[in-house]
Amino acid sequence: MGYNELVFPEGSKFLVTGSAGFIGSNLVEAILNLGYEVRGLDNLSTGKRENVEEFISNKNYEFIEGDIRDLDTCMKVCEGVDYILHQAAWGSVPRSIEMPVFYEEVNIKGTLNMLDAAKEKNVKKFVYASSSSVYGDEPNLPKKEGVEGNVLSPYALTKKVNEEYATLYKNLYDLDTYGLRYFNVFGRRQNPDGHYAAVIPKFIKMLLSNEAPTINGEGKQSRDFTYIENVIEANLKACNADRNAAGQSYNIAFGGREYLLDMYAQLLNALEIEIEPNFGPERIGDIRHSNADISKAREQLGYTPDWSFRRGIAQAIDWYKANLS
Ligand code: NAD
Repeated sequence: MGYNELVFPEGSKFLVTGSAGFIGSNLVEAILNLGYEVRGLDNLSTGKRENVEEFISNKNYEFIEGDIRDLDTCMKVCEGVDYILHQAAWGSVPRSIEMPVFYEEVNIKGTLNMLDAAKEKNVKKFVYASSSSVYGDEPNLPKKEGVEGNVLSPYALTKKVNEEYATLYKNLYDLDTYGLRYFNVFGRRQNPDGHYAAVIPKFIKMLLSNEAPTINGEGKQSRDFTYIENVIEANLKACNADRNAAGQSYNIAFGGREYLLDMYAQLLNALEIEIEPNFGPERIGDIRHSNADISKAREQLGYTPDWSFRRGIAQAIDWYKANLS
């Protein structure tokens, strides 16, 4: 079962932090389509107002511009909320290596503020974005919850600390927290621009302009690229999950694996073009291979992802073709 059949109590209210970002704006859209109320919080630092502009006229949508580093703001936005989908954070492994103190302030302090506000306001479920980067240098595949290595970047450390706090808030205060370890998410509205853009939107945009992208390393790294629809399903199912499944983290991926070179070939194929890529140095802090065991999320959250990389990339390319100016 996907997420369209999910039913929440009448009058349920959701809060999405990071609602003007890639994943947050897609969560807002999905909740509005299900017919529930949603409040969005974003400080528009890496997110864009245009990502949520089309929802502003929806009577079930409310947008608050504010910062998760401010505890008062967090308390205010949690008022009257049943479910929190906490996405606000700064992403990018290489950027976090350049500015670790800032990552600590936004990703750790900001998330702690949100946890504390959720506890104070008696929110039912606190579902939050963690990351596959918490597996660090653990070499074994597939990655399984409970078998983590040493983290390789400040970004990964912030997500690891988020998980520790979220477990503590379950144990100390009985707040139902669910950590979702996303694996390389892609899809509509993901930002293709800038030095720190994710590989898929960046490559699609360059290829659509007949430019040759640069592959870091030899392209023999692999990733469990996860289409946004699977991530929406995981978030909404976590809101409906059993209380016994709280206080833990879950791999959220498709459970497949694409080598970067193969991913590149599939992009060329889907776009029906021929462009030789450039090759650059490997990036510090990057995991070499990534592939998730998703059985824990299947069993405890009822997560049944049905968007493969191939199916998702076709839809994503259609969106970028229609929306890139
Ligand atoms: P994004 O940058 O598009 O969205 C993040 C949003 O958070 C932005 O709109 C930004 O303006 C907002 N934000 C940042 N700092 C804030 C602050 N201090 N106060 C309020 N809002 C703030 O990124 P995304 O790809 O949508 O990522 C969403 C979440 O998922 C993040 O927590 C990220 O770490 C996590 N994640 C993403 C991926 C991926 O592949 N995209 C993988 C693993 C984890």
